[in-house]
Amino acid sequence: MNFFQPAVFYTTVNHLRDLPVESHAEVAFAGRSNAGKSSAINTLANRTRLAFVSKTPGRTQHINYFSLGGQRYLVDLPGYGYAKVPGAIKDHWRELLSEYLTQRPQLRGLVLIMDSRHPLTDLDRNMLQWFLPTGKPVHCLLTKSDKLNRSECMAVLRLVKEELGKLSSTYSVQLFSSSKKLGVDEVESVVSKWFDEDDQAEKNLGHRGE
Ligand code: GDP
Repeated sequence: MNFFQPAVFYTTVNHLRDLPVESHAEVAFAGRSNAGKSSAINTLANRTRLAFVSKTPGRTQHINYFSLGGQRYLVDLPGYGYAKVPGAIKDHWRELLSEYLTQRPQLRGLVLIMDSRHPLTDLDRNMLQWFLPTGKPVHCLLTKSDKLNRSECMAVLRLVKEELGKLSSTYSVQLFSSSKKLGVDEVESVVSKWFDEDDQAEKNLGHRGE
């Protein structure tokens, strides 16, 4: 079974005070609405409709938790950039996301989903500005890569690497396609390593305390 396949819906949260209190490690997925985040989560979990729970009315602006088993969570953050969202909801979104990204101790890493044809929009940069100062790793998935030819793929990969290299030393970038199921192994390997490193750090702490 692949790394994300055990994912099951756990809970929906609309206020930071309602975030799960357990110390389970979590990895968050964020992206502009329509970037392909739900499709990517479904592809990774090898399910057709798992992440569409996050798209049901009333939940699109919420944080949706999926349990991966083994005391690990995948956290689906609300898609951003809807043109028609009223100001008050945009403010709520900013507060929820910025506080979650800057202050959540359980968060081990961020998977930032961007349409490979429109990477690093202003709102994506907001997310990076909030998250990168924590020093935790970010992994960028450049989705819908099936819509680009080979040289366009190489060009966008280079561009995003160059930009992130200016901002962070803890980043990685890859191409991804849900339609063609391309790039699944690479995401699994990056995210499972974040969790494994975390387990190792916990073990080391335990030994030191003995
Ligand atoms: P979300 O709003 O970020 O969750 O985006 P969705 O996963 O709902 O995808 C938005 C649109 O992009 C849908 O029409 C998807 O079918 C399409 N899409 C998502 N991923 C891919 C992909 O890898 N390749 C192609 N060609 N289309 C995709």
